[in-house]
Parts: sequence; structure tokens; C-alpha cells
Amino acid sequence: MERKRLLILGSTGSIGRQTLDIVRDHSERLGVVGLAANRNWQLLAQQAEQFGVTGVALADEQAATELRKATDRLRVHAGPDGLAKLVGTSRPDLVVAAISGVAGLEPVMAALEQRCDVALANKEPLVAAGELVTTAARRAGAQLLPIDSEISAIFQCMQGEQSAGVEKVLLTASGGPFANYTKEQLSAVTAQQALEHPTWQMGPKVTIDSATLMNKGFELFELKWLFGLEFNQIEVVIHHQSIIHSLVQFCDGSVLAQLGLPDMRTPIHYALFYPERVPNQLARLDLAAVGSLTFAAPDTARFPNLRLAYEAGRSGQSYPAVLNAANEVAVGLFLDAKIGFVDIPQLAEQTLEAHEPFAVDDLSDVQAADEWAREYSAALATDRR
Ligand code: NDP
Repeated sequence: MERKRLLILGSTGSIGRQTLDIVRDHSERLGVVGLAANRNWQLLAQQAEQFGVTGVALADEQAATELRKATDRLRVHAGPDGLAKLVGTSRPDLVVAAISGVAGLEPVMAALEQRCDVALANKEPLVAAGELVTTAARRAGAQLLPIDSEISAIFQCMQGEQSAGVEKVLLTASGGPFANYTKEQLSAVTAQQALEHPTWQMGPKVTIDSATLMNKGFELFELKWLFGLEFNQIEVVIHHQSIIHSLVQFCDGSVLAQLGLPDMRTPIHYALFYPERVPNQLARLDLAAVGSLTFAAPDTARFPNLRLAYEAGRSGQSYPAVLNAANEVAVGLFLDAKIGFVDIPQLAEQTLEAHEPFAVDDLSDVQAADEWAREYSAALATDRR
């Protein structure tokens, strides 16, 4: 059997490394033809060596220069365009999109233009440019396969079902480390505390997004664009144990759920082999050991980001791209201890309020909204300090 040729965008990150773990365990079925990252050239070089890859890309030009100095065995593409070039030269069957942030948008579009299927962990492109991404996939006849655990859960519950039969989706959220904090307690939390997620080990940006519930807000966009759901068909449920990854309620009242341990390798594995179910050695769920599963409604007074995501999603146009960019700026400032935890949604909300929306017809519109929001929210943060 031919091995599936994978190109991993963001191979040095949490999802990228876990994808490579799966490739290592299934080397007879999966091979790697390209690896890309931002600036961690040392790890990228090690990965290339281990997986016999010759084509790599680094978005950071300086890091690309360092890598070229260190070895002449690799073809190194440099800069943001370099990632798109790597997609063109490595002829993958499946691109794993695991870059953090909207920086992943252009390489994903490049993959779709090459008619490659894309396994999507990177959610920000669907927030900022969901219509452009899904239209490009449709035109190319390429599949968009979700990796995000909740979205994979819904994808799995939908197999063999008609989307017309879906009444609503119940999207579970762990609630993050501060689910039970008061507003006063939230205003004192540090980046260090926020980086300690109770159930998932993830990169810094998505860990903070989980703590603020922006991650859940962004998943609304994944559901809208991947499954054609309306925002009023999506209900968020806080489920601290992260065992039920999400549920679909059908028009006859039946509810299907997908369960599993909180281990991202399970949904990554599903996406890599889809539609086949392939055995693996990952730990299995033991419900008796879990004991009880709990559910609660989210509190958007303490975690306004979820409300902002619904609002930006319903308003459409350039609002979602603005929400994403303002959030990227705010999370960066919080990680650098320049703003507090509760400032993150405030910065996003004030940026949305000041925005004059426009239609998003192509990537230059996304870029214009993104640049405006980055500048506006950064200036707001400076004024507040
Ligand atoms: P990490 O921060 O761990 O990794 C990010 C990866 O993207 C790294 O390889 C990094 O390279 C690369 N990268 C960052 N910026 C750029 C850029 N401008 N150009 C090229 N490459 C870049 O993130 P995660 O793996 O945690 O998350 C990746 C995506 O998956 C996010 O969108 C997240 O929301 C989503 N996701 C993650 C989950 C998780 O469990 N981690 C779960 C569900 C979704 P370098 O190392 O060189 O900086």
C-alpha cells in the first residue's frame, strides 16, 4: 500500500509533534514529505533527520539562514511565502495545518489551491476567513478534516447522517483553570497560572484562549463553516472532565456523543486515516475510573469572550477577522505580563465597537481587517497602561 504523503505546517508545536508521534507509530502507512515552522530551526532539523524529509520551510528569515548554515542537506524555503512554496514543491496528499494563529491562513489557502486535502487544527483561519477557506476547498474538490477534538467529535457523530436532520450541536468546554473564579479573582491571575490547563497540554496561545473561553468562541466558527450550522444551533456546555468531546442532537430528539480521554492524538489519528478506523495503542477510556461527568451552562458575565464570538459571528463581514486579530494582540500582551487577564476580552470588545465593518471578498480584505485591528488594539493597550 502507498504511504500517505503528509506535509506538517507547525511541526515543532504541540499538535505538530503529536502528529509526528502518530507517523512514527504508523510508518508503514504514513510518510512525511515536508515540515514547516516559524523559528525553531533546531527542532525542525532534528525532525527532518528523523523522518527523512528534505523539504522544509521557516517563516522567520533569520531562522532559515541559521538552518542553511547548519546543514546543506535540506532545501530550506524562507519567509511566509516559503510555506506556500513548500506545499507546491513537496506534492503532499494531506497537509496538516497546525500553525498557531491567522498566520496559518495563507499556507492553508495554498494547499487548497494545490487541491490537497487539509487536516485542520489551526482554527483561526476559519474565524478570520471561513467563507474564503471553505469556498476554496469546494472549488478544489479538497476535503477539510477537523483535528480539533470537539469538532472531530461532531464530525464523527455526523458520519452517515444528513445535515438537515441536525437540530443543534452541544459543544463541550472544559471551562479552563478558572471556571470557578470570581471576577475579582480573575483580575489577579497571572500568565503562569493561565498556562496550567487542567485537562489538555497545548501551545501557549490556545491555552490562554481556553482559559478565557475565546477558544470555545472560535469553535463556533469551525462549526459554522465546516458543517453549515447557524450560531443559534450551537449551545456551549461546560464539562470539566473533557471526556465527552461534543454531542449532536437530531430532529427526532436523539443525541449522539463522542467520548474519549483528553488526548489530542485520538482526533489527529482519526483525521490522518479518515475515513478508515485504524487500530492504535493509545490509552483507553475507563468510565468507572472517571466516576462522574458534570455539566453546567457557561457564564458569559465572567467570560465575555464567548458572547463576543457569537456577536461577531452573527454580524459577519470583517468583524470575525477583527475579533481574531484583537485577541491575538491581547493574548500576546497578557503572556508578556503587559495586561491583565480581564483586559483580554475588554480589548477585543472595544476594538470590535470601534470597527467600521466591510465585506470580506478576498485575502486582502482579511489582511486589511487584521492589520487595522492589530494597530487599534495595540494602541488601546498602550493608552490604558
Ligand atoms: P504551538 O504554539 O504549540 O505551535 C505552533 C506551531 O506553529 C509551531 O510549530 C510554530 O513554530 C508554528 N508557527 C507559529 N507562528 C508561525 C508563523 N507565523 N509561520 C509559520 N509557523 C508558525 O500551538 P498548538 O500546536 O498548540 O496549536 C496549533 C493550532 O492548533 C492552533 O490554531 C490551536 O488553536 C489549534 N489547536 C491546538 C490544540 C492543542 O491541543 N494544542 C487543540 C485544538 C486545536 P515555532 O515552534 O518555530 O515557533
